[in-house]
Amino acid sequence: MDKNFILFGPPGAGKGTQAKMISKRFEVLHLSTGDMIREAKDDPIFAPYLTSGQLVPDQIIVDMVVKRLQREDCKNGFLLDGFPRTLFQAEQLDKFLNKLNKKITEVFCIEVSEEDVIKRLSDRRVCPVCGGSFNLVLKPPKQVGVCDFCNAVLVKRKDDTPETVKERLDVYNKQTKILIEYYMKIGNIVKVDGTLAPEKVFAKIENFVNNNIK
Ligand code: AMP
Repeated sequence: MDKNFILFGPPGAGKGTQAKMISKRFEVLHLSTGDMIREAKDDPIFAPYLTSGQLVPDQIIVDMVVKRLQREDCKNGFLLDGFPRTLFQAEQLDKFLNKLNKKITEVFCIEVSEEDVIKRLSDRRVCPVCGGSFNLVLKPPKQVGVCDFCNAVLVKRKDDTPETVKERLDVYNKQTKILIEYYMKIGNIVKVDGTLAPEKVFAKIENFVNNNIK
């Protein structure tokens, strides 16, 4: 069976951390729309969204993802992280995959409370070079302020400020959360407790894939 996955959950659920582990373990391409947008931060189309917490317009994101999914390195499967985020995006993704006789194999929904999200994002520090993600309390780097993997100086994401976090949670609740129902109807979503340690969250996802997706 194809391994075409979606990692779903509110901002700060730990999607990026899980995505790195899953894509390595199952050899599928990790596609983070947030990372793609951050890489294109000098493009005036994207710049305002990286500080406001608002969503980039649907059609722009859909075109970007559809174009990327057609590349050779997605043939063995992919893991979408941060996409889809609206009903329109989910429907467009399904339409595109349908044309290729493909579908989303599984959606992993990482569940964490709003309280946890706020705490996690205010303590989050990221590596601008390799994308490593740390938490000052839960997962501190070995050396204060320095990335464990590439020694770069860690930074706070521009959208991890209290005001933007509130906005991002609001956007998630109003526009994104509804997708849980969408995938429940299709019957390809599995919920995972995101408050567990990252290795435990990963172990649950890994077991699920090993037992159900052959
Ligand atoms: P993330 O790293 O996934 O939290 O994304 C960072 C920001 O990029 C979001 O707050 C949005 O402004 C934008 N973004 C990422 N993915 C999407 C998407 N699927 N649809 C619209 N905007 C997105």
